[in-house]
Amino acid sequence: MTDKPTLTSTSGKPYPTNETSETAGPRGPVMMQDHYLMEKLAHQNRERIPERVVHAKGWGLQGEFKVTHDITKYTCADVFSQIGKTTEVLSRWSTVAGESGAADAERDVRGFSLKFYTEQGNWDMVGNNTPVFFIRDGFKFPDFIRTQKRHPKTNMRSPEAMFDFWAGQPESVHQVTILMSDRGIPQSPAHMNGYGSHTFSMWNAAGERHWVKFHFKTQQGHNWLSDAKAAEIIGKTRESYQEELWNMVEAGNFPKWTMNIQVMTEEQALETEYNPFDLTKVWPHDEFPLIEVGELTMNKVPENYFQMVENAAFNPNNIVPGIGFSPDKMLQARVMAYADAHRYRIGTHYEALPANAPKNAKVNHYHKDGSMRFFTNDFGNPNAYYEPNQYEGPVADETVAEPPLRIDPEAVVARFKQEEAEIDYVQPRALYAEVFNDEERDRLHKNMAGGMAPVSDSVKERWLAILKKVDPRYEAGVRKALETGNHGDPSLPVTDDTPLEVAD
Ligand code: NDP
Repeated sequence: MTDKPTLTSTSGKPYPTNETSETAGPRGPVMMQDHYLMEKLAHQNRERIPERVVHAKGWGLQGEFKVTHDITKYTCADVFSQIGKTTEVLSRWSTVAGESGAADAERDVRGFSLKFYTEQGNWDMVGNNTPVFFIRDGFKFPDFIRTQKRHPKTNMRSPEAMFDFWAGQPESVHQVTILMSDRGIPQSPAHMNGYGSHTFSMWNAAGERHWVKFHFKTQQGHNWLSDAKAAEIIGKTRESYQEELWNMVEAGNFPKWTMNIQVMTEEQALETEYNPFDLTKVWPHDEFPLIEVGELTMNKVPENYFQMVENAAFNPNNIVPGIGFSPDKMLQARVMAYADAHRYRIGTHYEALPANAPKNAKVNHYHKDGSMRFFTNDFGNPNAYYEPNQYEGPVADETVAEPPLRIDPEAVVARFKQEEAEIDYVQPRALYAEVFNDEERDRLHKNMAGGMAPVSDSVKERWLAILKKVDPRYEAGVRKALETGNHGDPSLPVTDDTPLEVAD
């Protein structure tokens, strides 16, 4: 006898052994009736859910958000209702392109996702470590992601495809410049900012709407890795981010971020030279200064990675009363696509799992049955399974409705024209010419040349022409680094995949 609990099957039947199969005699074959063996092997076969098509490699922590400044004049969201109010948060940071076993220290954009378990349901801030993105229309997203993934024939990553796509999408140059700058390989998730990137809205108790952008500024400082340092780290460990986060939390050195918002009135949004709902644009700080809101502290490693991080399903459509969407086309595509991806990846009732279920709000809905229907929502009466009903089933609360949004009637029928425009070069030019210093520009040239080295001449020239429109020094610097081979270890994997010859 032992004090340890008895091992059982999933139906609760005690296991007689967890070491040997049941056989027909000591030397005979395995009995088909050994359902303990069958259950064990069958469960192993099902231990993985499909990995995310993007953002497959991730690291997560639990923690809390504390309000430090009053923004109730902008929003009636309960999460911001009082200075000092705290809300539990789950974070997941990720790389975009690599598979779930990819090395952490690769040059890539990082996902920066937060789930706030608010008293009005979960609010998910599903952002990146960059304030902009490569494209501004969800129609292009599958094409873009295909260029980041493996080539269908070589089964290797393809710089040719990446730069070919970017060269056909001049608005990408803002994000590519950030990706190839120092911030392209953060030392760890603790050493990078998070941005909601999209424009969202907030509305206050009087029903007044403002457009907002979310900024989470690292308090650990921006630390980044050069290509050479990253290659050295990856040679020693593929899990450098997981190790760093683990060590920080174990040592009580909890990573923190300061949350800020930028605010734009509806009237101002009609007047900006750039489209304030274009995900390839920032809002300049001098016109729209950061307004401090609170502090995020991530202080706990989840007890079980799979349960809390792999199962975590972040949705841009998880907003709460007082926070809303905007006409940002990428955001609108994500509002549909994320929930769809989670239903495929995890299952119909994925939001009933511990990582995703609201902790501080009651869930009442009429979605019944399907996979993972392990919760009860019959509202105390099994007849209350449709609406309207004469029983105690839940009813909608019209007081939480978003204030009406003025829309240009023509916008409803007009497709946005995807044309090259000078406005797409203004902000990358400001970043290159005014924000970066000479050393930063030099490293940018070399990082980009490293990434472009394996690319065909035709793609190189098309991309260099775009850099020239940003700033002639940019084009000249990258061209020189390409010609002299004076660049660090190429950050993007070097493959010999110049376009494949296709036989007639
Ligand atoms: P500011 O001079 O006020 O802002 C420049 C910002 O650049 C800094 O605040 C910092 O953002 C960011 N930055 C510094 N180094 C890097 C880097 N290696 N990669 C990416 N960003 C970096 O000017 P503006 O607000 O007018 O912006 C000028 C340009 O700066 C923009 O065109 C854009 O390219 C870039 N930028 C602007 C941001 C914004 O929200 N306005 C945010 C990030 C970049 P942070 O404070 O967020 O760390």
